[in-house]
Amino acid sequence: MIRFDRVGKRYPDGTDAVHDLSFEVDEGELVTLVGPSGCGKTTTMMMVNRLIEPTSGRIEVAGEDVMSVDPVRLRRRIGYVIQQVGLFPHRTVLDNTATVPELVGWKRSRALSRAAELLDLVGLDPKTYGGRYPGQLSGGQRQRVGVARALAADPPVLLMDEPFGAVDPVVRERLQNQFLDLQRSLRKTVLLVTHDIEEAVRLGDRMAVYGPGRIEQYDTPATVLGRPASAYVAEFVGADRGLKRLSVTEVRPDDLEEPPVARCAEPAGHAADRMRSEGARWAVVLDDEGALHGWVGLEEVARAEGRTVGDLAHRMNAWVPVGSPLKGAFGVMLQHDAGWVAVLDGARFLGVLTPAKLHEALRRSVDADARGVGREEAAFDSVPDA
Ligand code: ADP
Ligand code: MG
Repeated sequence: MIRFDRVGKRYPDGTDAVHDLSFEVDEGELVTLVGPSGCGKTTTMMMVNRLIEPTSGRIEVAGEDVMSVDPVRLRRRIGYVIQQVGLFPHRTVLDNTATVPELVGWKRSRALSRAAELLDLVGLDPKTYGGRYPGQLSGGQRQRVGVARALAADPPVLLMDEPFGAVDPVVRERLQNQFLDLQRSLRKTVLLVTHDIEEAVRLGDRMAVYGPGRIEQYDTPATVLGRPASAYVAEFVGADRGLKRLSVTEVRPDDLEEPPVARCAEPAGHAADRMRSEGARWAVVLDDEGALHGWVGLEEVARAEGRTVGDLAHRMNAWVPVGSPLKGAFGVMLQHDAGWVAVLDGARFLGVLTPAKLHEALRRSVDADARGVGREEAAFDSVPDA
């Protein structure tokens, strides 16, 4: 959808802001550009909608060379969100949001109803906020209006320059989550600039890590964290990149172990015999439908002749839905002081995640398989296996 081919930008004063940039952004993909200040991220982004023009190379949007497209027509297809938001102070929130549809010639009534719809989408009730002026909003609310405005004409491409930069960390995380939800349904092609590595990792399908004037690594967050391409990238992503990887790797069904299982309706003595013969000290208790009911210890079922397993089961709080990040699963493990967490698909019990399996899943996240590299060859910065 967006293609950079050996793109360079030298400003008139001789500053080489970027040189020899080549990368592609697929349709529906969210790519984050991350790196220290001054390394050319904003320059890269502004060349996509021709607010800045490249001095060498070629940029394509949807197969067209941007230099051959009328800039006004180009910008209609590209939403733009910047940190300072750039809302018009003397226009209401609703009018601000309707700006682009009106510019591209929508009837006023249609533009306003579209604006109300978009405000709703970003979590601002148009009845409450539509009539306010930007100065009557909090920083986070203004950012959301900025996003709504950029989306109003439904452009396929969205450029976002530090869109959540001006708000405190709590609000920022909320805005990020909300934007991710939105992006899951809208599937825009997004380029998002940030200097915040956490944000780049959380939001990006892929991330471009910038050094001065160039991209040092372009890959999925899991791979950048698991296999930084250079010492520069390793340092930039931080010494805690192993921990960060926990938040970009999901629990998959094939990560799970099958623990001993007992059924609610099973007589306690029967379950005790079975657990002894399997050498199990505890079992997960499931109902007839395979839903998680709880857990029991061997001692308890052994002492409770005549009762059913279901009567004796303890509630199990240590569980997560399949597909949730390893970080959440690890948190639940620590919180409940459990050696494992149950993993559910809806109510259905799939298996348990153990610390050993969690470690395996992290190794997997390095993408070794996808690249046809053997697991043992993947550079991995944890203690070597015994
Ligand atoms: P980032 O967004 O990563 O902080 P920028 O793209 O804004 O970086 O800037 C990249 C480099 O280009 C910096 O060294 C900056 O000072 C320089 N630069 C940006 N705009 C101009 C300009 N209009 N004229 C000259 N140099 C500029
Ligand atoms: Mg910038």
